[in-house]
Amino acid sequence: MIMENLNPHDERPMLALAHGDPSIFPCFRTCRNAEAAVVDALSSGQFNSYGTAVGLLPARKAVAEYLSRELPYDLSANDVVLTLGCTQAIDIALTSLASPGANVLLPRPGYPYYEVFSAHIGLETRHFDLVPKNGWEVDLDAIEALADANTVAMVIVNPGNPCGNVFTYNHLQKVAEVAKKLGILVISDEVYGHLTFGSNPFVPMGVFGNIVPVITVGSLSKRWIVPGWRLGWLVTNDTHGILQKYGVMESIKRIASISADPASFIQGAVPQILENTSKEFFSRVINILKNDADICYEKVQEIPCLICPYKPEGSMFVMVKLDLSQLDGIIDDIDFCIKLAKEEKMIILPGVTMGAKNWLRITFALEPTALEDGLERLKAFCQRHATTNK
Ligand SMILES: *Cc1c(COP(=O)(O)O)cnc(C)c1O
Repeated sequence: MIMENLNPHDERPMLALAHGDPSIFPCFRTCRNAEAAVVDALSSGQFNSYGTAVGLLPARKAVAEYLSRELPYDLSANDVVLTLGCTQAIDIALTSLASPGANVLLPRPGYPYYEVFSAHIGLETRHFDLVPKNGWEVDLDAIEALADANTVAMVIVNPGNPCGNVFTYNHLQKVAEVAKKLGILVISDEVYGHLTFGSNPFVPMGVFGNIVPVITVGSLSKRWIVPGWRLGWLVTNDTHGILQKYGVMESIKRIASISADPASFIQGAVPQILENTSKEFFSRVINILKNDADICYEKVQEIPCLICPYKPEGSMFVMVKLDLSQLDGIIDDIDFCIKLAKEEKMIILPGVTMGAKNWLRITFALEPTALEDGLERLKAFCQRHATTNK
């Protein structure tokens, strides 16, 4: 709907500050090692066959080793299912838990796909708030009030989409303890794992797998900036064998076996990608994102009708609140985004799509000059519509 309002007579390039795929910008091109790994796998002629339901063993082993580096225990290949991006890992996690009458607790604001897919499979969703004044931490009391005997899991996204926050070790531990008390498991979406550039380091939820069972979902898409490669994983952190005991593992594997697998040659490249990506590539990406986050935060401060309660410390996004009293003739966040598309040929996501009415989600993962251009357009738009202009 918003895209339809872009003005075709506007000669300027369209700027999308709406989605998290910076792969179109040369500065975000993935590392040559990863590309070479895919070429090698393809030209070896060894990956032309069907894969296996849960993924090829060397690739699952490589993912287990990659994730174990940050954990107090070792994962094995049996804890890993390879998926078509993080998206299919979410599908499998939710489907395996969706027994009749079950409900799942989702963060608000949240990543909309969880709502869409839950609705698709008839899984009831309930929402707990992320609290902006607490750095978007989970409202833990709300979790206890929401859960009942039919609650199967709660979802966290860390580093956060859409809020750009990074949970501390202590907060994640509290999440684990609440989940344990309620007898539910935690689905931790870590698709932005390691993409942090503030004071909080990335801590995987699996660290607390000894307190509560954790299903971690992730992919190559964001850290390697190759969302089109469609290679993700679902990993169980289950040190007490609870998921095993209650048949959740079995259910996950059966569900994985009735859907399509990632392309075999991409799976074939996984060990080399995970083992050989240079530190320089990762730190280059982090430096660009950090610089982008600074640019974005500073520019937003110059725009009176936008309030940013939290400077992003991870992922590719920031949430800003619209002060509609400072805008003339703008009804709500959708109206704002439609008029912005029409007048400035740029796209921003209205908060209502993530459960946060009259907020906006800005993606700052762009080439810096494009980001600056976009933020200038945003500022010009807000100035033109400011109430004080009358
Ligand atoms: C992008 C994204 C995904 C999907 O990842 P793919 O690997 O592209 O399927 C899942 N969760 C969140 C929070 C995301 O931002």
